[in-house]
Amino acid sequence: MTNVFVGLGSNLGDRVGSIAAAVREMAATEGVRVLDVSSVVESEAWGVEDQPRFANAVARLDVRGEADAFLGTLKAIEERLGRRPGVRYGPRPIDLDILLFGDEEWDSPELTIPHPRLLERDFAVTPLLRLAPDAVLPDGTPVTRENAVEGRIVGEMGPVPGFGGPG
Ligand code: AMP
Repeated sequence: MTNVFVGLGSNLGDRVGSIAAAVREMAATEGVRVLDVSSVVESEAWGVEDQPRFANAVARLDVRGEADAFLGTLKAIEERLGRRPGVRYGPRPIDLDILLFGDEEWDSPELTIPHPRLLERDFAVTPLLRLAPDAVLPDGTPVTRENAVEGRIVGEMGPVPGFGGPG
């Protein structure tokens, strides 16, 4: 089993409901155990600026199997929850990113781990640090908010319904 951090984001429709549904789908997946889910933050849109604010959270999981197979699991969940190919970085009901996959590094056209923009994104770094204050990248770099200037957090939206925890 590998300790995995997944970033969840939504800026279309029932944002917190979509995040909760994605966590339920992950929890219902064979070989995946949801260990912890952060509270939900509201963040400024990134990429295409003229779009609604995002709701974001981070989940910590135990995952059996390889990272590329797990990416397929996440893409299937995105599709089931209504994501359709559209404008890249545009509004989406759910976006699931592998932030960290144990201490593994991946670099292929389909999959880059650690997520290449993790440290620049407040909406990813801040919830991750709430779950794992001592998180480090595979190369030993500590995860900090120092460079997290994109997707700034502008509000708190409370726990994910059904997964309320301390984070
Ligand atoms: P986006 O539309 O920005 O969500 O990009 C989705 C694509 O990014 C997916 O089709 C993945 O193949 C690719 N990708 C690369 N690295 C990652 C990662 N660490 N987590 C999730 N998707 C990734």
